[in-house]
Amino acid sequence: MKIAILRIGHRPYRDKRITTHCGLVGRAFGADCIIIYGEKDENLINSIVDVTKNWGGNFSARFTDSWKSEIKKWKNEGGTVIHLTMYGMPLPGVMDKIHQLEKIMVIIGSEKVPGEVYRLADYNVAIGNQPHSEVAALAVFLDKLNNEVEFKLYFENAKIRVIPQERGKRVERLN
Ligand code: SAM
Repeated sequence: MKIAILRIGHRPYRDKRITTHCGLVGRAFGADCIIIYGEKDENLINSIVDVTKNWGGNFSARFTDSWKSEIKKWKNEGGTVIHLTMYGMPLPGVMDKIHQLEKIMVIIGSEKVPGEVYRLADYNVAIGNQPHSEVAALAVFLDKLNNEVEFKLYFENAKIRVIPQERGKRVERLN
């Protein structure tokens, strides 16, 4: 399954760490890329790309000038758009349908998401109907979508990897 994350409404001062975390969660939980709409910040892209360079895999990150054209292009190419929102339908009720899809764009917001996103999305999905966080919503969604893939993923071309320990830290350098 191909999975892109569309992060709408990035604000450099307030959201720098949160948007970086959305990218890192996406990568660690099996997504392919994050597309960010908001005030441009190359340092943000570099911080995500640097993790991929060291820890492996092909996850990519970029900014876009238009969230709407990204959604329309994705749909024109046969993809499905899933907007994570506390106002949507609870995930367990739609998971069977979502599991059958091959190409998913997952939209997450920061502050208020434009009303048009709710209309353009194929599914408005809630990870519970309480307000919480885009990082948590994304992690829970990808964990359930990919059947706990974060415990099984292998990242090619990694320079470092963790050797799990009951106590302490062990890191292996690979090349
Ligand atoms: N009230 C805001 C709104 O209009 O959506 C919530 C903003 S919240 C800080 C930022 C993002 O986290 C939301 O745009 C949504 O993508 C995600 N989010 C927060 N709670 C969620 C929930 N219960 N289910 C799914 N996504 C959630």
